[in-house]
Amino acid sequence: MEPDCLFCKIVAGEIPADIVYETDDTLAFRDINPQAPTHILIIPRLHIARINDIEEEHRHLVGGLYTAARDIAVAEGLADDGYRVVMNCNEAAGQTVFHIHLHLLGGRRLRWPPG
Ligand code: 5GP
Ligand code: ZN
Repeated sequence: MEPDCLFCKIVAGEIPADIVYETDDTLAFRDINPQAPTHILIIPRLHIARINDIEEEHRHLVGGLYTAARDIAVAEGLADDGYRVVMNCNEAAGQTVFHIHLHLLGGRRLRWPPG
């Protein structure tokens, strides 16, 4: 755990979150500032700051973010209509919290390319 990391504090239960899914390795909760009717963040419990810091040993963990996204999309009723998963890396892409997280967005028509 990184003491100054917001998402590590959510993992530790020090900051409340609307948790929708959890496994031994993974946690998912609703985004505080949703950009779509469903906007959920899926994170590893392990602190990894950004995509650039993903190591070989994290392969299974990172893959688990996607199987979580799939399961949550089904539970949220998004699987048939469609949804998007996206992870921002560093400032130019809009990353503001430096603990990797997949955004799961759905419940409306999503434009492409994103801004
Ligand atoms: P990023 O910009 O790093 O890709 O995404 C960070 C996301 O975290 C944003 O969508 C933002 O709304 C969300 N967020 C920031 N602080 C909190 C918080 O305290 N709780 C929750 N649930 N989401 C947060
Ligand atoms: Zn962290």
